[in-house]
Amino acid sequence: MNHLGQSQLNLFSSATIDRMARTVGDADELDTLANSDRARFLPVYNTKVLVANKAGQLTAAAIEKAELASRFSCDTPPVYLGCKNDLHYFAVGVKAADEEVEKFADLRQSAALLNDNDAALLGYALAILTWQRNHQHCGACGAPTVPRQGGHVLQCTDPVCAREHYPRTDPAIIVLVEHGDRALFGRKAEWPAHRYSTIAGFVEPGESVEQAVVREVAEETGVEVIESCYHSSQPWPFPGSLMLGYTALAGRSQIHLNDRELEEARWLSRQELTDRLVCGEFLPPTPISISFRLIEDWFNRQRSVPFRMWCENNSPKG
Ligand SMILES: [Zn+2]
Repeated sequence: MNHLGQSQLNLFSSATIDRMARTVGDADELDTLANSDRARFLPVYNTKVLVANKAGQLTAAAIEKAELASRFSCDTPPVYLGCKNDLHYFAVGVKAADEEVEKFADLRQSAALLNDNDAALLGYALAILTWQRNHQHCGACGAPTVPRQGGHVLQCTDPVCAREHYPRTDPAIIVLVEHGDRALFGRKAEWPAHRYSTIAGFVEPGESVEQAVVREVAEETGVEVIESCYHSSQPWPFPGSLMLGYTALAGRSQIHLNDRELEEARWLSRQELTDRLVCGEFLPPTPISISFRLIEDWFNRQRSVPFRMWCENNSPKG
């Protein structure tokens, strides 16, 4: 499978909304659009998104202008996200009355219950509003900013500075490292017992993504990466990362926890992994994450029973 196809399998990557629609039109046209009967609003309350629950199936609650006005007061002008099926979608930060607050959901916890498109749409809405909330003042001079271009630019109101700020995405690498038939897993002290994941970390200034793969693995585990290969990417809106997934081969396999970011790192073969899954000593990362997919692709290369099935059959009860 090519990288485009691989990435589309990652949750939050597959919104079918046409983002290019927002490149047309000036502020007046956008205002007309937001007030038309083809506008749909995705309310975000703090870091939570509004969902509708129909018999256990969650959907993104995309409401019309009149309903938005009757249920919520808005913090800031809506942000135009794009167009789908002749409907125009806007993300909007809201204040909510107590009886409405419980209808908002934590996207990280509810994403698995949404279809791929709704999860991606809500992830997009959450990420851009979080960026706006965190950039209400100019980072250069401290003056307040105001939204421009449908909310995708924040401009400094100081006439001398007048700097434009663009949505920020933080690149992070995540990598499944192999040595022979084993893969490298790590766990942090603050995670639930037996939870393991692949190795991850932010790309630093002045560093290539491939250099970040080598450095992060060495810092966290002491393992030497001698070869890396791009797998896929995943936007991770908690709050605004772009996960760049890699597979890698280890030269030296000896483990040493150099920066103590991990409590434990260990090599596991596929057999050792299933043994641990069965006896509850391996809790995989959340199935919505690219980490899960990296492990899944590695595992399924040499196993007839898919990793996902092993996890579902051996998930902790209750
Ligand atoms: Zn400024």
